[in-house]
Amino acid sequence: MDIKIISPTPYDSNVYLINEKVLIDVGMSHEKVISSLKRYTDIKNIDLIILTHAHYDHTGSVPEILKYCSAKVGMFKDEEEYLNDPELSAANAFGRAPLKINADILYSENDEIYVGADKDGKGNYLKVIHTPGHTKGCMCLYEKNEKILFTGDTIFSEGGIGRSDFENSISEVMSDSIGKLLKLDVEKIYPGHGAPTLNNAKKSIEMSYRMSCLMNR
Ligand SMILES: [Zn+2]
Repeated sequence: MDIKIISPTPYDSNVYLINEKVLIDVGMSHEKVISSLKRYTDIKNIDLIILTHAHYDHTGSVPEILKYCSAKVGMFKDEEEYLNDPELSAANAFGRAPLKINADILYSENDEIYVGADKDGKGNYLKVIHTPGHTKGCMCLYEKNEKILFTGDTIFSEGGIGRSDFENSISEVMSDSIGKLLKLDVEKIYPGHGAPTLNNAKKSIEMSYRMSCLMNR
């Protein structure tokens, strides 16, 4: 799987370009995101934008990117209600006007999302793992052959965990969600913020799990 990482500013989410045609999260500083994308691909070839959750720092660039391509927008079904909500998407908190967009695809647990083929022509699929906690409909995305996990704001590298004190958080299930990730065979973590973990990600997930259990005691 070909993965390009764009980190527009410290406030934006990471933006992942997969196989030159699929995005996982898009950040909110659209000018920076679009100029970075142009270095890696012809934006008109992007056909799918997957949102790990509805927070504006992950979604804000969608309308501007859609001026360059006709990508479908996909997210977990339980998260759609927050997409354009000024408070629950945190658009207000970032001082931005809320989005006015539609999700074209609503995912469910265990859906397999086709994300194109890499340079060797091998097709890649991402499995939807519902991980409520940070928000109700947060999801992680798992590629089993390369043991890669995109974690959104559920967990970060080196044992980090996402906030679960938002109005639409469900803090009491955060450790259950991270426990679900522990059952996967993961070598690499690509989180919503901060650096990826490129070796032995299992250890990082275990640290996140222990941290979430401590916080929920
Ligand atoms: Zn978030």
